[in-house]
Amino acid sequence: MTSVANEPWFRDRKLQAVLAILNRDGGEARVVGGAVRNSLMGIPVSDMDIATTLPPEEVARRVEEGGFKSVPTGLQHGTVTVVVEGVPFEVTTLRRDVATDGRHAEVEFTDDWRADAERRDLTINALYADAKGEVHDYVGGLPDIESSTIRFIGEASRRIEEDYLRILRFFRFFAYYGKGRPDPEGLKACAAARSKLGQLSAERVWSETRKLLSAADPFRALLWMRTAGVLTEILPETEKWGIDAIPSLIEAERRFGWTPEPMLRLAAIVPPDAGRLSAMAERLRMSGAERQTLMDYANYPQLNRDVSGPKLRALFYRHGVQGAVMRARLGIANLVGKGDDADNLSGIAAFNSILETALGWQKPQMPVKGGDLIAAGMPAGPKIGETLSRLEDQWIESDFRLGREELLAALAKLDKDQPG
Ligand code: ATP
Ligand code: MG
Repeated sequence: MTSVANEPWFRDRKLQAVLAILNRDGGEARVVGGAVRNSLMGIPVSDMDIATTLPPEEVARRVEEGGFKSVPTGLQHGTVTVVVEGVPFEVTTLRRDVATDGRHAEVEFTDDWRADAERRDLTINALYADAKGEVHDYVGGLPDIESSTIRFIGEASRRIEEDYLRILRFFRFFAYYGKGRPDPEGLKACAAARSKLGQLSAERVWSETRKLLSAADPFRALLWMRTAGVLTEILPETEKWGIDAIPSLIEAERRFGWTPEPMLRLAAIVPPDAGRLSAMAERLRMSGAERQTLMDYANYPQLNRDVSGPKLRALFYRHGVQGAVMRARLGIANLVGKGDDADNLSGIAAFNSILETALGWQKPQMPVKGGDLIAAGMPAGPKIGETLSRLEDQWIESDFRLGREELLAALAKLDKDQPG
């Protein structure tokens, strides 16, 4: 019998407290999904999902009675979030599907563990650890964990028809936990149903895609998505551009210790065209911040590896650093992919120095404001803005060295040069 009884996450006092109040008086609760999967794969366990035979109202009642906080996260789906000393546990009542249409499921509560397992997507995601830590497997998840096989529960094509998002989940979980080639039946079923991805809400598609792009190394998954025709369904922008920049980006991330960024990975596989990227952000209903990241990147002026000193600081002042950071990183990745000859190495060093300057950059404050011009006798009006911007040009030109007095002196000179 496989067991997680001795794992530190399982022995955690807070988890045990939740399990204890649910595992009595005819109720049963088990840890399910990601926590059990990761634990058995030797990967750190982050969030904890619990499945229970108890209906959600009863879960909430027992939790409150036990002195913990319960949040009705999704009562109609059967989910109550239990918060113990600030740590959330999602507790969901066992369910079975009564109707599906590829996008939503109508569920009913059950006390049948096998039925609950069979409505889940992948075998590795349907393992349950009971109150003693013993692992229950109804769908062949344990051998698939052993061999790092990502496999649909039951017949792949049927499971995909119930919820087309599972196409993307197949590749996402392959990116994180899969080895070798994807399961052929699953891959074939994903390829066959790819045109149905358009029926899903943009939010679900993007959320799943973002997770896929956050994997330590999503390259093989992206490659298989391309082979299956799935990638162009969700990211047609990648079609002509390709995903070939990913391996060297991953290598650069590792070599230089960069935190993997899904938006940078995305930028690496789509053309840097502001119009297309804006349409893509719109289509996928990205957040405002995500859209801005792409725009800062696409609209950034050409970033030459040799630019430094005052010129570089002028660039940062006028255009910000976010786009420069992305461009420098992609520049480095590109050179990493070309090999270790001297010219590439010096290019990498140059981009790294740009990166360092960008990351330490603090935007200086223009020392003169509109009020100063009015105080100096200039009438309010559009001329104020024009003059300020000319003074600002001089200030930037001076590498931000000119102070208030000098700029005001320059103002007198500006006035003389251009009367009226
Ligand atoms: P992680 O949270 O680490 O990304 P996870 O396995 O917890 O991984 P979630 O997306 O949080 O993944 O889903 C929790 C569980 O719910 C999954 O393990 C799976 O059993 C089930 N599940 C989630 N989405 C679906 C789906 N679309 N179809 C079937 N089952 C699903
Ligand atoms: Mg989860």
